[in-house]
Amino acid sequence: MEHRSEFSKKIGEESSNYNQLESAGQLMYTLIGELYPICRSITGRGFRTSLASLKHYIPLEIHEVPSGTKVFDWTVPNEWNISDAFVKNEEGEKIIDFARSNLHVLNYSIPINRKMSLEELEPHLFSLPDQPDVIPYRTSYYKENWGFCLSHNTLAALKDGIYEVVIDSSLSPGSLTYGEYFLAGEIEDEILISTHCCHPSLCNDNLSGMAVSTFLAKELTGMKRRYSYRFLFIPGAIGSITWLARNEDKVHRIKHGLVVACVGDPGPMTYKKSRRGNAEIDIAVEHVLKHSAKNYRITEFSPYGYDERQYCSPGFDLAVGSLTRSPHGTFPEYHTSADNLGFVIAEALEDSLAKYRLVIETLECNKRYINLNPKCEPQLGKRGLYTSVGGQKQSPENELAILWTLNLSDGSHSLLDIAERASLPILTISNAVLHLERHGLLRIAE
Ligand code: ZN
Repeated sequence: MEHRSEFSKKIGEESSNYNQLESAGQLMYTLIGELYPICRSITGRGFRTSLASLKHYIPLEIHEVPSGTKVFDWTVPNEWNISDAFVKNEEGEKIIDFARSNLHVLNYSIPINRKMSLEELEPHLFSLPDQPDVIPYRTSYYKENWGFCLSHNTLAALKDGIYEVVIDSSLSPGSLTYGEYFLAGEIEDEILISTHCCHPSLCNDNLSGMAVSTFLAKELTGMKRRYSYRFLFIPGAIGSITWLARNEDKVHRIKHGLVVACVGDPGPMTYKKSRRGNAEIDIAVEHVLKHSAKNYRITEFSPYGYDERQYCSPGFDLAVGSLTRSPHGTFPEYHTSADNLGFVIAEALEDSLAKYRLVIETLECNKRYINLNPKCEPQLGKRGLYTSVGGQKQSPENELAILWTLNLSDGSHSLLDIAERASLPILTISNAVLHLERHGLLRIAE
């Protein structure tokens, strides 16, 4: 008996089309390496350049929403761009230099160019006393400010004196950019995959999410899909708020969704449930992780985190969870210069992509069926569906899958219900379905 559904065979073929010498994980790591130096923010050139890189993989549609546009209780902010920034000491040395790390600038800093004392400069310097070697990542999107982020060691070594402070940035009317990729399926119901792309040189949060989403989208392209898929590459918070405000008429089509972030570190997979807590996506992801033979964590929904906060706000209450590895805020590298190319690994990216693929396979095959021979069991042996040797202590998995599928296919149980009840992977159940359909014992329920 084959162990993979038609859908999974196709997705497997697609994923095996990669360059034989490089795994998907390595290719995603390479993409992260290309995007790493770019200074991204919630608006501006860095965000656009990053989406342009993703267009080499998938034909993203780019949207520009003018600054000042009202989006529910929020307003699309002015566009921020930056060319250079530094702090020079009296000897003319650049002691903080944007060219060395874009994390050195408080993201969204307004321009400044003047000399000042250390005393005047200090309130604008941000460091982490508990992690004295790393540069923190800080932002000030909605309150005009300027500042520099630096290691606590560098800060502690600053001497009294006059410093030249330059931030060559602009904050002016422009637009908010986001990327959207829609793949039509057999049905209008959609699966949403949403990724924030607004962080500068940080790898796990959020370049890993951008890479895994892009590769998942690429794999799904050109495949026969039951569901329609919508991939969003957006700035965090304001991006999902903007998309929801502009697409309120389409939101009802989103039946399942996942927010992708922090999928490149070596930690175990973590699933944060949707606000509903018992949606099909919640059951599907837990099912996949449970049968993955690896450690995993499930956490309940909380209104803190990434864009699931907006998708799961009460006015939308979408079935959107978040599938990550180490969740935001739980690893010491989080929002620091230590979330770099040494922190994410190809193996973790590949494993994360595989888990997303399995969740999608699960949703794709999670249909209801009708047993066409419901009065007593059909004679499976004469159809070659059952072992000819009776009396064995335990039936092999495939036979159990056939028995459970026949027993629960009354039109009210989905394949995921059956798989959960039988404690078998859904792909074993969907494989049993293929065989039972072939023998005229099962049909899809309408
Ligand atoms: Zn973040």
